Amino acid sequence: MPFVKCSVDGCSRKLQPLVKPDPRDRETWIYPECDVCFRPACDKHSADVDGRRVCDRCRREAEARGARPTVIDLGLAGLRGPG
Ligand SMILES: [Zn+2]
Ligand SMILES: [Zn+2]
Repeated sequence: MPFVKCSVDGCSRKLQPLVKPDPRDRETWIYPECDVCFRPACDKHSADVDGRRVCDRCRREAEARGARPTVIDLGLAGLRGPG
């Protein structure tokens, strides 16, 4: 299996797993990833925003829009409906 790498701005730094629920099964390992786009990002290319990890790419997009990055609400937004 290939290494999980940071892909922000062409970075190819290999990421170390944060947690290994099953050390023998790489599929279960948790890597540091952006909470906005869910892509892996190394420490150098991510930052904490309100307790969330946000990669440089998403931070730049948010800055371009003049707003903070919005974290995708896992499923909750759809359940509540409009209003
Ligand atoms: Zn991101
Ligand atoms: Zn990186």
